[in-house]
Amino acid sequence: MENKIKSVYIHIPFCSSICSYCDFCKMFYNEKFVKKYLSSLEKEIKENYCGEYIETLYIGGGSPSCLSLEELSFLFEIISIFKLRDNYEFTVEVNVSDITEEKMSLFKKVGVNRLSIGVETINDKFLSFLNRDHTRSQVYEKIGIAKKYFSNINVDLMYAFPNETMEDVYNDLKFIYDVNPVHVSIYSLIIEPHTKIYIDGVKSIDEELDSSMYYNIIKSLREHGYNHYEISNFSKKGFESRHNLCYWNNDEYYGFGLGASGYVNSYRYTNTRNLNSYFEGNYKYINEFITNDVKMENELIFGLRKTSGVSINTFREKYLLDIEQIFDIIDLVNNNMLKIEEGYIFIPEDKLYISNSILVNFIGGSNGNK
Ligand code: SF4
Repeated sequence: MENKIKSVYIHIPFCSSICSYCDFCKMFYNEKFVKKYLSSLEKEIKENYCGEYIETLYIGGGSPSCLSLEELSFLFEIISIFKLRDNYEFTVEVNVSDITEEKMSLFKKVGVNRLSIGVETINDKFLSFLNRDHTRSQVYEKIGIAKKYFSNINVDLMYAFPNETMEDVYNDLKFIYDVNPVHVSIYSLIIEPHTKIYIDGVKSIDEELDSSMYYNIIKSLREHGYNHYEISNFSKKGFESRHNLCYWNNDEYYGFGLGASGYVNSYRYTNTRNLNSYFEGNYKYINEFITNDVKMENELIFGLRKTSGVSINTFREKYLLDIEQIFDIIDLVNNNMLKIEEGYIFIPEDKLYISNSILVNFIGGSNGNK
């Protein structure tokens, strides 16, 4: 049988400070817990990894970079169990303040070849609002260190902060053009329930302004040589995130660690966010079989996030059915919510801002022809 799993996500939930907008699975760094956590992670991986060759490995969080050198060495020792293909992509998320020569050198030594750096903004006022633990001046210095070791760097940015102006957004983009990373992920600030900013009553910016910022960002990044390949992701040619493409291509992947999600043998699972349950080896919290109908829906819901869209031929090869047989897309095409060109179905650029309201049409949206 063809080996389907080519990607692994590993979650490290510890952070040295907690950001005001964060609803990820995270907790304060605690030396005692880290040791125990890494041992449980090792156990989970050993119990579930079936020895496949892996093409993309991604350590996210939380802040994996906040672990000590010794803890990181143990983590990489655990991860050395994975058999990697020659042309693998191995990403680690790093916080600006955690970037040191020692950590970068260790990452390089163990085969990490891509960094994803959580900058978010270089505006000190907004950094303080977000409760990020770095400052504008640190960003340039730390990225300088990271660039000595890595050329494949993603920078995460955010926009749509309360009272942010277009000029503020352009200042952050100017920083991008100064440091010239090969990949940029940029998301508008979402005020999630249970976060500090939600409790503080912070309100989202006006939707019209948000939309105008979004389209100006696309325009500016494109003018500076970045290919807009996913709703919120941009890259220089050949530097798309292969790991994230696995999600958008609806491929299967392992997810290990507290709160991690995975998709293995047609089951989508989410691990517990309860540290004690995780320590006891009760990893999975949700484990749901994905029927063929739902796989086809997901193929569109995830695939249409890519600006290139979904290949009609690939869909047919995967499911032995035509997209149009399964989904009533004609109305969406007639209303210019979807376009079909050169064998691909995609969301036209002027509708990307409202992509969620288009994608929602595919949830339970098959027309029963299967
Ligand atoms: S560093 Fe990331 S995971 Fe940690 S609190 Fe901030 S946003 Fe959340």
